[in-house]
Amino acid sequence: MHNFSIDNLNNDQETILNKLFMKVQVELVEEVGQAAFKSWLSALRLNKLDNNILFLSLPSNFLSDWVIPHYGHKIDTICKRIFVGIKKTKIIVNSTVNYKDNSFNDFEDLITKGNLNNNYPSPLDPRFNFSNFIIGKSNEFSYAAAKKVAESAKVSFNPLFLFGGVGLGKTHLMHAVAWDIQERTPKRRVVYLSAEKFMYEFVKSLRHKDIMTFKEKFRSVDVLMIDDIQFIAGKDSTQEEFFHTFNSLVDQKKQIIVSGDRSPSDLDGVEERLKSRLSFGVVAELNKADYELRLRILKSKVQEIQKIKVDNDIIEHLAKNITSNVRELEGALRRLCAHVELVNRPLTLDTAKQILHDIFKANKKSVTIEEIQKKVSEYFNIRHSDMLSTRRSRIIARPRQIAMFLSKICTTKSLPEIGKRFGGRDHTTVIHAVKKVESLYKTDASFSEHINVLKKSFY
Ligand code: ADP
Ligand code: MG
Repeated sequence: MHNFSIDNLNNDQETILNKLFMKVQVELVEEVGQAAFKSWLSALRLNKLDNNILFLSLPSNFLSDWVIPHYGHKIDTICKRIFVGIKKTKIIVNSTVNYKDNSFNDFEDLITKGNLNNNYPSPLDPRFNFSNFIIGKSNEFSYAAAKKVAESAKVSFNPLFLFGGVGLGKTHLMHAVAWDIQERTPKRRVVYLSAEKFMYEFVKSLRHKDIMTFKEKFRSVDVLMIDDIQFIAGKDSTQEEFFHTFNSLVDQKKQIIVSGDRSPSDLDGVEERLKSRLSFGVVAELNKADYELRLRILKSKVQEIQKIKVDNDIIEHLAKNITSNVRELEGALRRLCAHVELVNRPLTLDTAKQILHDIFKANKKSVTIEEIQKKVSEYFNIRHSDMLSTRRSRIIARPRQIAMFLSKICTTKSLPEIGKRFGGRDHTTVIHAVKKVESLYKTDASFSEHINVLKKSFY
């Protein structure tokens, strides 16, 4: 870690330090709880980083006399984790800091300077609307549910929970709902923000001892959308606050839409009661687009961009080889556009392959055991955790054996490694599973059909 003295920081360094300190504050709220944070730690400021010692300040002896024995160790541990490389943390008393005007330390300022903009709620992306969302098998249910929420004046289910891997259209759909509602009924207050932003707003309000305003702000909206809820996993205070906001809005019959990278029941580090609330309405998954949908999305994007002509053979090659997600597909297209604009020559398939070789390579990567477990447990409608559990009933054990079998044939992992990843089982258990599946595959036609479907989904 570099040495930054407060007087000769450049803007970038300042922003980095501020952001790191903001992380410390967030962790402190989570560790000590909001009440204690508000009483004792909200005045803690970043002072300087000198000789790998991080100096923090408090405005009075009274505070530091309490904070150092009670929270000093915790603060030190958190700071060492976040400001990697520091030797220690020192808390000093600095009564000269004007807490309101000190622009270097002011939390508000951190948010403005960091990449978290200070807009509340977060702005909507004009490119994300219903009309340019291309529908296919993998997303039609989510699309229909989102459309339903946008079109109904009354709440018919609450919340709508959209989930799926990155770049599959969660944010796009949420923004589309927001635009649509605003157009239909401009009076309804739609608020969209990421769970991360929710957390920062929350911590900020604690800092400013202004939690009531925060609560009111969020409880007076008509439609609340929280994106990427997985971010608050393990953040207990934020979860608690979100839980209350959630309940209060549901009681008032206000619509809530939440997105996450996995289904509510699979959200590790989220309290049971919140998980159960989140799955109370409609839970809709966005799956990976199949070839046909990827093709249609690409064609629509080419039309949207309108800058360059991309031959069908190139589009087909992209759709065939970039299977990970739509964002990557778009990225590839954008890169091709940039290239054509620069070199001013028509694009051939060979050039496209060269320009995008890294993307193609990354998409060839083999499937992981975790993905296999996930797919198989979804397919058989059991929990992912059952893959690792010791439960032996056949409805659990058979899918588990199938997943082990698929791990053997679709990955390069060794048998002991596979056993380990299935809740620490022995490699003989894996051998047994593989044999069992092979024999059923030969004798049972419907069983082999299941295996074929699953196998196909990995290629
Ligand atoms: P997520 O929030 O799930 O990570 P995004 O909503 O940000 O993904 O989508 C990533 C990009 O892919 C965006 O530019 C979005 O417009 C585009 N996209 C995803 N799905 C579709 C779709 N079905 N039709 C058109 N564009 C899509
Ligand atoms: Mg998103």
